[in-house]
Amino acid sequence: MDGTLAVFLAIAFVFWFYENVLKTRIEVCFVTMDNTTCSNLNNARNHGTRCESKYCPEKLMSKIAKVIDLAQHSIDIAMYNLTNHKIVGSILGARKRNIDVRLIMDRSALEGLDNHTAFISLKTAGVHIKIAGEEKKLMHHKFCLIDTNRWINVGMIISGSLNWTYGGFNQNCENVTFIENRFTQNEYNETFNHIWSKIAKPI
Ligand SMILES: [Zn+2]
Repeated sequence: MDGTLAVFLAIAFVFWFYENVLKTRIEVCFVTMDNTTCSNLNNARNHGTRCESKYCPEKLMSKIAKVIDLAQHSIDIAMYNLTNHKIVGSILGARKRNIDVRLIMDRSALEGLDNHTAFISLKTAGVHIKIAGEEKKLMHHKFCLIDTNRWINVGMIISGSLNWTYGGFNQNCENVTFIENRFTQNEYNETFNHIWSKIAKPI
């Protein structure tokens, strides 16, 4: 083999190995209850682009929506409660791009009308939905896995305390971590698939 080609292939392999096996990126975001900048801008148009707060819930909402907008293969969501219009809109957009979306929600979260509206629109768009949880044992996860189902891919994990609801973004103290790491995503995939397989069929 030509020496230059061998060096090129070796470098290409190192890059591939880093991108697909070693690469780790972590970003932590918070929603706080003392965010006066955001309260003042609450109903302003394009709040997210104008707000200078580090902990702006609008920016966080847009960031989550954007990650979903960029999904290419799969979206797996385990979310106690999911009603946020912007994020539901992004999930519907993903379905229009023919992305496979699986959603596990808790039984009790479907009782409110808001939930019901989001639930109907997601189901109509072809999201596979399974309902978990019992009276004393909630499906209390709040995580989302983007493109984590492929061996040759480091996808994105969004995980933390935040339900994708009005209260989650506007009323509570919350934390959300964005994680890109092969080994962590395998753990999340296993947990999601375990819950998914325990429930007989989508509703
Ligand atoms: Zn803000």
